[in-house]
Amino acid sequence: MGRMAPMTETPVLAVDDLHVSYGPIGALRGCTLEVRAGETVVVVGANGAGKTTLLRAVCNMLPWTGAIRLDGAPTGRVPTHRLARQGVLHLPENRGVLTTQSVLENLQLAFDMYPPARSFADAVEEAFTHFPRLKERQQQPAGNLSGGEQQMLALARAIISPPKILLLDEPSLGLSPRMVREAYRVLGGFKARGMAILLVEQNVHAALRFADRGYVLRQGVIVRQGEADMLARDTELFNQYLGFT
Ligand code: ATP
Repeated sequence: MGRMAPMTETPVLAVDDLHVSYGPIGALRGCTLEVRAGETVVVVGANGAGKTTLLRAVCNMLPWTGAIRLDGAPTGRVPTHRLARQGVLHLPENRGVLTTQSVLENLQLAFDMYPPARSFADAVEEAFTHFPRLKERQQQPAGNLSGGEQQMLALARAIISPPKILLLDEPSLGLSPRMVREAYRVLGGFKARGMAILLVEQNVHAALRFADRGYVLRQGVIVRQGEADMLARDTELFNQYLGFT
């Protein structure tokens, strides 16, 4: 369990009555959620529930209505690249690595985007300690890496430059069971350091084991929320909202 912040503390991320439509399709229909300091929060839901849309809206990658606040400040008019410079690190489903740039150049970009207090050399050394495979391949274009290695490179960006909040879209998608365990081990390290994390996942069991709190999204509406261990024990929820056990 992560640290439970008092309810009165300003959340790192607060989303209030969020609506997003793709033409006539309402992808999010009034979502309200928050991530407090030091918390890991997961949004689970079946295919098409609106999970990717939620993270893209938080990054202002698409139009929305409602309210989104980062450390209490409305983000409505802040462009995506400026949110990145304010410490919002979004790791999308496709990992978001620049495939024609080398591994090292990808890490340099992460460093420059939201420079931490220490030097690039020190930051890279730590990332390579976690991922020796990236050290071996540091001069290679990131596009030459396997899917699992690209996920490691994506996660290494959060080591190089620890964000204010990490937004993760299905980190286990397309990975072997061994790589899924590895990814969650690394995420466990972020959590232990007190990084605020918002994770969206179809891999419900792994995500609920990992998170402090969870929300269940169904067809653009949050239908359940609570402590992750409570949600994980709720077999009815799995049948009713997620379509499997
Ligand atoms: P998945 O796990 O399959 O990515 P998801 O929970 O992330 O699902 P979204 O990708 O956010 O769901 O999609 C939510 C709804 O919006 C779905 O009905 C989807 O078909 C629709 N949708 C998503 N992107 C677009 C788009 N660019 N244009 C039109 N409809 C879209």
